[in-house]
Amino acid sequence: LPTAWLNGEFLPVQEARISPLDRGFLFGDAVYEVIPVYDGQPFRLDEHLARLENSLKAIRLSDAMGRQRWRDTLLELVERNGGGDQNVYLQVSRGTDKGREHGFPAEPIAPTCFAMSSPLPRPPAHLRSEGARAHLVEDLRWRRCDIKATTLLPNILAKQAAHEAGADEALLHRDGELIEGSSMTLFLVKDGVIHTPPQSSAILPGITRQVVLELAHELGISVQETALPLEQLEQADELWFSSSSREIMPVTRVDEQTIGEGRPGPVWARVQAALEASTRQGKKQ
Ligand code: PLP
Repeated sequence: LPTAWLNGEFLPVQEARISPLDRGFLFGDAVYEVIPVYDGQPFRLDEHLARLENSLKAIRLSDAMGRQRWRDTLLELVERNGGGDQNVYLQVSRGTDKGREHGFPAEPIAPTCFAMSSPLPRPPAHLRSEGARAHLVEDLRWRRCDIKATTLLPNILAKQAAHEAGADEALLHRDGELIEGSSMTLFLVKDGVIHTPPQSSAILPGITRQVVLELAHELGISVQETALPLEQLEQADELWFSSSSREIMPVTRVDEQTIGEGRPGPVWARVQAALEASTRQGKKQ
């Protein structure tokens, strides 16, 4: 049974208890991170913890743990769960108040800090050989998508709509532009150049996005951080999604439209291979 960690204590995940008055439960007043672990080593841990600090600051929640304590705690969690490949989830909520009051607690309360680990899902083989299907869904999220908040209803509804349309991921669009997936960053390749929407409050600052940009630079592939009008789908040679737990996923169909030649493309293959090499050696923390 996997070991979890709650407010300073390691325990079996099904024994962890959180009050219904926790603001994470009542309001989704919480932020989170998902960190992949390869061969017992969290990948890009410092970048994830830096993003956590930004999310906490953005929701005006003090960082009760600090980076070093998070680092030690997560490394111990990974070890207690047997090392190898894992997917670590952590969440910080504003804590358990005395009642249900929207405003911040009148008196300071301790945030609820939680972490757990599960097996790292391997991308299904058919997604790599044939590519994934995406389903266009209007982006109904709020205007601070740069905060990794647990309030994920629009993402959940978009993902479910995608599944019901027979697709693997939702491709969110807003005001005529392609934005990102419901839980993945978006890339479009045209004439050998990788295009991705610029960092803004409309998208999550993906850690894998950053890694992809670094790897592209090392491989000598040009990148343009630029808005992606919906019409560019027709001219795209390749389309990808990326995330920490699913690496880089080639997309070969968006609803009834075929992307490029309908197969995972050569630029994807190069960058994904470089990512796999990077997750397994060096550059781990
Ligand atoms: N965009 C959204 C909305 C996400 O939820 C996620 C991750 O879960 C990503 C992008 C990818 O971010 P990362 O590469 O840091 O996992």
